[in-house]
Amino acid sequence: MITRVRSVIRVEGVVQGVGFRPFVYGLAVRLGLGGLVGNDERGVFIEVEGAPALVAEFTAALSASPPPLATVERVSARPAQATGETRFAIAGSAGGGPRRTLVSPDVATCDDCLREMDDPADRRYGYAFVNCTNCGPRFTIVRDVPYDRPNTTMAGFAMCAGCAREYHDPADRRFHAQPVCCPACGPRLRLLGPAGGPLPGGPVEEAVRLLRGGGVLAVKGLGGYHLAALASCEPAVAALRSGKRRREKPFAVMVTDLAAARLLCEVDEAEERLLTSGARPIVLLRGRAESARLVAPSVTPSGASRRRPGDRWLGVMLPYTPLHHLLLRGLDAPMVLTSGNVSDEPIAYRDEDALARLGGVADAFLVHDRPIHTRTDDSVVRVLRGRELPLRRSRGYAPRPLPLARALPRPVLACGAELKHTFCVARDAHAFVSHHIGDLENYETFRSFTEGVGHFLRLFDVVPEVVAHDLHPEYLSTKYALALEGPLAGARPVAVQHHHAHVASCLADNGAPGPVIGVAFDGLGYGPDATLWGGEFLVADLVSFERAGHLATVPMPGGAAAVRQPWRMAAAYLDTAYGGAVPGDLDVVRRNAESWEGVLALGRRGVNAPLTSSAGRLFDAAASVAGVRDVIGYEGQAAIEWESLADPAETGRYGFRLTGSAPFVVHGADLVAAVAEDVRAGTETGVVSARFHNTVARIVAEGCARVRRAGGPSTVALSGGVFQNALLLVRAAALLEEDGFHVLTHGRVPPNDGGVSLGQAVVAGARDARR
Ligand SMILES: [Zn+2]
Ligand SMILES: [Zn+2]
Repeated sequence: MITRVRSVIRVEGVVQGVGFRPFVYGLAVRLGLGGLVGNDERGVFIEVEGAPALVAEFTAALSASPPPLATVERVSARPAQATGETRFAIAGSAGGGPRRTLVSPDVATCDDCLREMDDPADRRYGYAFVNCTNCGPRFTIVRDVPYDRPNTTMAGFAMCAGCAREYHDPADRRFHAQPVCCPACGPRLRLLGPAGGPLPGGPVEEAVRLLRGGGVLAVKGLGGYHLAALASCEPAVAALRSGKRRREKPFAVMVTDLAAARLLCEVDEAEERLLTSGARPIVLLRGRAESARLVAPSVTPSGASRRRPGDRWLGVMLPYTPLHHLLLRGLDAPMVLTSGNVSDEPIAYRDEDALARLGGVADAFLVHDRPIHTRTDDSVVRVLRGRELPLRRSRGYAPRPLPLARALPRPVLACGAELKHTFCVARDAHAFVSHHIGDLENYETFRSFTEGVGHFLRLFDVVPEVVAHDLHPEYLSTKYALALEGPLAGARPVAVQHHHAHVASCLADNGAPGPVIGVAFDGLGYGPDATLWGGEFLVADLVSFERAGHLATVPMPGGAAAVRQPWRMAAAYLDTAYGGAVPGDLDVVRRNAESWEGVLALGRRGVNAPLTSSAGRLFDAAASVAGVRDVIGYEGQAAIEWESLADPAETGRYGFRLTGSAPFVVHGADLVAAVAEDVRAGTETGVVSARFHNTVARIVAEGCARVRRAGGPSTVALSGGVFQNALLLVRAAALLEEDGFHVLTHGRVPPNDGGVSLGQAVVAGARDARR
């Protein structure tokens, strides 16, 4: 008699909506095993029965070769009584009980679906909503878990007989693909005029005609509306810019394929992987001179006058929905694709709202009737040191969980900071960092935040017992955390200092516990001494930190005005550097002569001039003194342009001083004075920029060496928005590594404030564990 064994198996991770059950079914049938597989709130459950060796092979294959979109985190098995079952079946989803499943991010259209879309004999030929278990909308259409069709925005579309057959056939690629549909039963495209009335003709054909003719098109995407224009058409791009009231921030372009991307930009291997990944982020790439022919100047207007042609960074992405593919094939040229909003509003994602808000910008609307449940912007990444550096982590990434090195004792909600806001829900060993919410400065984004929190708590079945927030009393996220009502009212509030959160986010990003020397360079964050921090050397672990060093404080004349007008920081720094006798022949003084003395007086009197140690403000001051930018149109603009101008061949640097100890102080004014002297001597701006960057990199290395000499750790974490600067990050990391430091940088969450919520969550969790 042959021995039979039966095993009850549980698989946890991202295992729903990713073709896991058909994979399990196929595996069991191939091995001739009996049993069943099903979804429940915790993931996938399996019972399997047959010869011991085959059951073992089956179990091993679950984690060794899962379907491409699955992330298997744990497979646990226990023996059960064999029943003699020889057939294998797929069970329906079970309801009730605690939800422990994970929702997949949205995934770019797969090659199999594209083949069908291109095949005139296929019933989905030319269909803009083709998808399967390996691709298509996920997070943006999920209303609730378990991930089944009635819990998605596809609930209103009844499957036709053909789709139902595929959906129920375990051997089919669309088996249990929740958004499965076809032209007979699924969503449909429509082309509408700016007032919402239908336009005649084929929607895609007419949309392409409009783009070719220099029109601006609003397109409903996965996570919201985009505005599109033919990238080579300067008048169209300029019209889009003025309609959006976005004067200077670069637009991203979408191109047909990798070959088209290579025509515009240099693309290395890591960048190629990201461009073609299922997440399909916007990848920042170094533009080629040839791009000038295909991409109009207005796509990247900032600082254009100072650059050599082609010497610019371009945000490039490949099509990720069938509709994008159809549009680009029709257009056969790069297309500007930018978020569908005006000014700083969040991206529009509801149909009526999009018509109302974008009607003044778009000449037509390419829409469809599949609702978007969660507004999700395109993600933005760049490659540094051969590794992905996220700048905005949203569509295609959220809500994939980030693993935590240590499980949390109690569930945590981290409310994030303010700019580039995200929140984070964490339980056990998982952190769910939200999609990008935007700048938390108005009612619309605040509502996205609070609704998003509710959605995440439902999806991941979390009732937070700890609520983490920033120290800044005026952040809306802080106020929200301190005023929670209902079931969350009893949660323990934990205040986490902004730069400690940055450093902790870098630790969590790398699965490291610390202690570490955290270099947190960013715009502004509230310090425990009520000054505005931002040029910090912290010795930190996940629980606490000590301030080991920082930039010398300077006044920010006019407060927030000094953020928008870098020349005010130039004034404050020069006043410090020259002891009140700023050389009058400096261009920055001449350019701002009218208000110069008044601004100096504000700083000297300390009236409406909060003190800051911000590295971002130091970069602003230097950029202004060098004549790059006195006033900015978007956050970080002066520093971004300052970096892009740097001459990569220049290796020189300025002198600098670090004085005192515990904490030591870095005299940033020395740098600004050195920049001023170089400018007075007529040194080329690119050389001045490179020398400035080289000096800051050297300061980072010297500061860390000092901390280590005083008994500090030999691992360094580089975090904060200033470390989006490629030149600084690469040079600082190289110097640190030469000096024997182990260097941690970001790879999963952004170094900017988009990563702060993760840092808050792990700090709050670590403190909670010590309760
Ligand atoms: Zn597919
Ligand atoms: Zn159908």
